[in-house]
Amino acid sequence: MTDYLIVGLGFYGCVLAERIANVLNKKVLIIDQRDHIGGNCFSKVDRETGIEYHVYGTHIFHTSNLKVWEYINKFTEFNNYRHQVLSKHKKKIYQMPINLETINSLFNKNFSPKEASAFLKKITKKYKRNSYKNFEDKAKSQIGDKLYSAFIKNYTKKQWKKDPKFLPSSIFNRLPIRLSYNEDYYEQTQWQGIPKNGYTDIFRNLLKNKNIKVALNKKYSLNFKIRPKYLTIYTGALDKLLDYKFGKLDWRSLNFKKKIVNVKDYQGTSVINYPDLNKKYTRIHEPKHLHPEREVFKKEKTLIIEEYPSNNINEPYYPINDEKNRNLHRKYKEYLNKRKKFAFGGRLADYAYYDMDMTISAALKKFEKIKSEL
Ligand SMILES: Cc1cc2nc3c(=O)[nH]c(=O)nc-3n(C[C@H](O)[C@H](O)[C@H](O)COP(=O)(O)OP(=O)(O)OC[C@H]3O[C@@H](n4cnc5c(N)ncnc54)[C@H](O)[C@@H]3O)c2cc1C
Repeated sequence: MTDYLIVGLGFYGCVLAERIANVLNKKVLIIDQRDHIGGNCFSKVDRETGIEYHVYGTHIFHTSNLKVWEYINKFTEFNNYRHQVLSKHKKKIYQMPINLETINSLFNKNFSPKEASAFLKKITKKYKRNSYKNFEDKAKSQIGDKLYSAFIKNYTKKQWKKDPKFLPSSIFNRLPIRLSYNEDYYEQTQWQGIPKNGYTDIFRNLLKNKNIKVALNKKYSLNFKIRPKYLTIYTGALDKLLDYKFGKLDWRSLNFKKKIVNVKDYQGTSVINYPDLNKKYTRIHEPKHLHPEREVFKKEKTLIIEEYPSNNINEPYYPINDEKNRNLHRKYKEYLNKRKKFAFGGRLADYAYYDMDMTISAALKKFEKIKSEL
């Protein structure tokens, strides 16, 4: 008999497995319906080019949480990668998030930070309201019509398959606008990088203890035969587990198309956004740039991955943080909270967008709770 059953080999499940096995010296069975470890952070090497890529979208590790940083560094070393995002609008490249370079390039100006601030005030004045009817109104009130139309409007339309005029203002988060030339995407974050040996290697290291048994291609349902002595920890979607008894939670999803190109460097950076409607994809990833320290970086071949938004609910990526979905998720949570010897967490079960560091931090906190209740 196993002491703990964990469903899901992503960060949430694997961090808990590692803590339970190493600190509590208890037995863990950890399963996943997929044929690999790592959950959505799974990385693998493309056979033809030798380039490692992130199968479920480019993942940059970044955190200001010291506890998480110290913990994860026991399982990997990081390279010195600093993330930067560019956006190609009408055949010209701009920096993202919108900064002084973006503004000066788009308006063909040479504003100083102070001048740019006054300029933004002037161009947004006519869009300021006490409350906003929709996404577009709110966005224009922050950046004005021209910046919105160039970088946000059609990008959002492609992502949501809906005109932003028909999206609620609540899903428009405050856009970070920088009145400097700083192009470090995670400028506020203390540590960032890509694991030197790739993400999958971190998971192998997390799962090393012989108290941990891993089973792939195993789908969990409520009548799963194996019952652990202490607790089942489930990291999948709650609505699916309960056969959608209260209704389906909405998600946005993505599809990826891989291509091999016979040039050393296709786009000069790891991610470029495509905000115009003439391209169906929203981004092109070039994973080679995540590891400039590797030998394969010099090869006269590269891998590029086009990212397409999709409504495929079988591969949930982004929760839709509106009132309807929040209420529905609460119902599932309340229902499953009553279940004995059963706990849940992680991005799918919590119906939340968690970065990796938030997922690890949540798992470490959950472990403290499990330990205290033993
Ligand atoms: C496109 C994209 C890009 C991202 N980029 C970044 C980034 O750059 N930086 C960052 O910090 N974070 C990023 N993230 C967030 C990161 O992916 C998550 O924080 C992390 O994957 C969450 O881990 P998890 O364990 O909660 O979930 P997951 O990794 O999804 O693991 C859950 C696992 O449970 C399994 N499962 C579910 N139901 C069952 C069942 N019934 N039976 C068996 N197995 C089941 C699933 O197959 C899955 O493998 C990104 C997310 C997305 C969507």
